[in-house]
Amino acid sequence: MSQVQSDYVSKNASKLKPSGIRKFFDLASQMENVISLGVGEPDFVTPWNVCEAGYASLENGYTAYTPNAGLLELREGISSYLNEQFSLSYDAKSEIICTVGASQAIDLAFRSILDTGDEVIIVEPGFVAYSPAVTLAGGTPVPLETVEEDEFKLTSEKLKSAITDKTKAVLICFPSNPTGATMTEEELEDVAQVIKDHDLLVLSDEIYAELTYDQTHYSIARIPGMRERTILISGFSKAFAMTGWRLGYVTGPEEILSVMLTIHQYTMMCAPTIAQHGALEALRNGREDLERMKRSYRQRRNFIVKSFNRMGLSCRMPGGAFYAFPSIQSTGMSSDEFAEKLLHEERVAVVPGHVFGEGGEGYVRCSYATSLESLQEAVKRIERFVNKNTE
Ligand code: PLP
Repeated sequence: MSQVQSDYVSKNASKLKPSGIRKFFDLASQMENVISLGVGEPDFVTPWNVCEAGYASLENGYTAYTPNAGLLELREGISSYLNEQFSLSYDAKSEIICTVGASQAIDLAFRSILDTGDEVIIVEPGFVAYSPAVTLAGGTPVPLETVEEDEFKLTSEKLKSAITDKTKAVLICFPSNPTGATMTEEELEDVAQVIKDHDLLVLSDEIYAELTYDQTHYSIARIPGMRERTILISGFSKAFAMTGWRLGYVTGPEEILSVMLTIHQYTMMCAPTIAQHGALEALRNGREDLERMKRSYRQRRNFIVKSFNRMGLSCRMPGGAFYAFPSIQSTGMSSDEFAEKLLHEERVAVVPGHVFGEGGEGYVRCSYATSLESLQEAVKRIERFVNKNTE
């Protein structure tokens, strides 16, 4: 592309840097025989009954727009599902919007609550899209690093230290991408108290809520006084293996959701109709498949974490999501160096931890949403690499 200097591009948009993940994977995609532990998506194909519901929606002629907030039947399904699974209560008509992936819900949420200069505390290491979404909405992202000593959980002291008189909201994501950290009810209560004391909003990205392995997920929205200040973001991409369908949802207080719906009406109209029919089937008849995939992730998690620790890369047992986040500090390499050398020498792709925030330096993210056979081969290659590169 030619580098023409002009004023065509918005100053705000040009603050954004390309995603560190993409840059790395463009490199990996040009190489052969690469095992990728890089992508954050299930290796499972969407269960067949869900695919059939997609075909059926086309055969039945459901090719037009749905209501802006999504099919009422689907919103009712989401409402019951959240109630049964996580003891959350949201009104299908006024407190749920179906979106184009959780990604659109994140964008909508920030655009709905932020004015220029408002600060959003973003818990890091975290998903790469949060800060850009805050910037595009005119806000100022304020990264707040969690550390391994705290098992990458957010603590109330940490949170207090980042709050200023410009803070409007806090973004949390548990189970976490990339650390796999989860938080208990008591730990969330501590954090929630600070949020209430400072009259802040919370954006809680709970897209990995179903994928917890040692304890049931607890949503911060359940804590008394939090429902009215929580925007909860989730979707079908991860637990239901539906990344390509592009279907997420957002729930929250009507006052905020009605603004989100207005923006959604003008910018998106509605989430894809076929995907909405697929999601309805996933909610009705998808639980067994979800449990099957989860059992497999748990087995892979146990294998990969044990393997990392055995080869001298210290790695906590992640409580949720499908990522291991081993420390590579014992090798003396930066996370970039480690990932690049590993890719070139052993053809294994992992993501350097720093792309998820400064606190991720010294770690790499390895997705275990890949077959056990590939993981076994990847572990062999990584072990050979570590032995060769550690004095
Ligand atoms: N939130 C987190 C924490 C994620 O890891 C991802 C995808 O990697 C998303 C949101 C985006 O999900 P979706 O595919 O529903 O847009």
